[in-house]
Amino acid sequence: MSEVDPRIRVHIGDITKLPVDAIVNAANTSLLGGGGVDGAIHRAAGPELLAECRTLNGCKVGDAKLTKGYRLPARYVIHTVGPVWQGGGKGEAELLASCYRRSLELAAAKDCQIVAFPAISTGVYRYPKDRATQIAIGTVSAFISHNAVPETVIFCCFEQRTAELYQQALLRLTERE
Ligand code: ADP
Repeated sequence: MSEVDPRIRVHIGDITKLPVDAIVNAANTSLLGGGGVDGAIHRAAGPELLAECRTLNGCKVGDAKLTKGYRLPARYVIHTVGPVWQGGGKGEAELLASCYRRSLELAAAKDCQIVAFPAISTGVYRYPKDRATQIAIGTVSAFISHNAVPETVIFCCFEQRTAELYQQALLRLTERE
């Protein structure tokens, strides 16, 4: 856990286990399930999640849609679609920032106080982890500095190495302030 900003925490583990108001899913445009964290969330939430996702007509890259959490300990799932890394010249950074912002807007609209994010786009979508981490932390900290809700944002990292990147980025952010 980070001590840097009390509203931003870094957690190592499986996002499907977190009893929070909303977890964010790194989905694909179909919203009909996939591998990685998407597959884990659908398995843990049960088939009711897929049934609700089928009614949503997919989701654009950089946008987000909200469903219930069904069998998850989280009340809601916010499905966002990160960009596939194509070298950085295809608007990837702005699209990734948009994923974080749109997810937080949906969370705030449902009055979610605690929201957990995975490292969007850093798996099969191959976004370089250090760059993705900067965007995640920068976008989330800008949002929460202007909004009271969510009160707490958790960056849920599957690997120790990813968590270290988040901790370092958080430290750099406080040093700049
Ligand atoms: P994307 O398609 O957006 O790249 P992935 O699911 O392939 O999404 O990977 C996104 C990140 O989620 C990766 O850093 C991966 O290690 C992490 N991840 C995979 N499973 C889980 C899980 N159960 N909980 C939290 N993070 C996870």
